[in-house]
Amino acid sequence: MSRILIIEDEAHIAEGVRFNLELEGHQAEVAETGEAGVQAIQAASPPFDLLVLDVMLPGIDGFAVASQLRQNNWFQPILMLTARSRPEDVLQGFEAGADDYLAKPFVLAILLARVRSLLRRGPWQQPVSKAGVFEFGNKRFDYDNLEITANGRILRLTLMEANLLRYLIQRQGTVISRKMILDDVWEVHEDTDTRAIDNFIARLRKHVEDEPAQPRHLLTVRGVGYKFLANPS
Ligand code: CA
Repeated sequence: MSRILIIEDEAHIAEGVRFNLELEGHQAEVAETGEAGVQAIQAASPPFDLLVLDVMLPGIDGFAVASQLRQNNWFQPILMLTARSRPEDVLQGFEAGADDYLAKPFVLAILLARVRSLLRRGPWQQPVSKAGVFEFGNKRFDYDNLEITANGRILRLTLMEANLLRYLIQRQGTVISRKMILDDVWEVHEDTDTRAIDNFIARLRKHVEDEPAQPRHLLTVRGVGYKFLANPS
């Protein structure tokens, strides 16, 4: 059983999702505004395991909720409900810290499948190593626990940050285009502005680089994309 919070102001949607999550054996609660949702998450004991987050809310919107939670070091999976599958919304959602999205109107069975998969943490990936741990430079990336340890300090990653890092590590030494990241990691298959990826990489650099402004592991390949080097010479 997992504890799931639903932030959604449309009562019939929120109640439908809550009811079905409970049928699946979870404990689900509803908050009608972003502000109430953030409060519920901060006060929750035991903590919530997953958040279903609508974008269009009265008061602060879902993007703001996600960024606030991530800034406050809340790292559980966020499934975002976007009004339509506009790639801009999707990218803004990932940038804010969402791990997956579903466009409204959605089919309930698909939402439940996404929740299951987020709670299992993306079964589509191959392990980085047997132990789920990968070492580079003075850092240790623990995929299973979504952590990077560096100089005795532990940094938490969101699921999407960990997925992207894992994707780059699995292809270390080769150039990865922004389009590949969109397609394979974020599963956005439309042509769209890819600046969100650059912002996301900038955030990831703060975790994997000693000096994010002078990256040694996560390099930009001008005009193409990115390249990960575990052992730069
Ligand atoms: Ca709404």
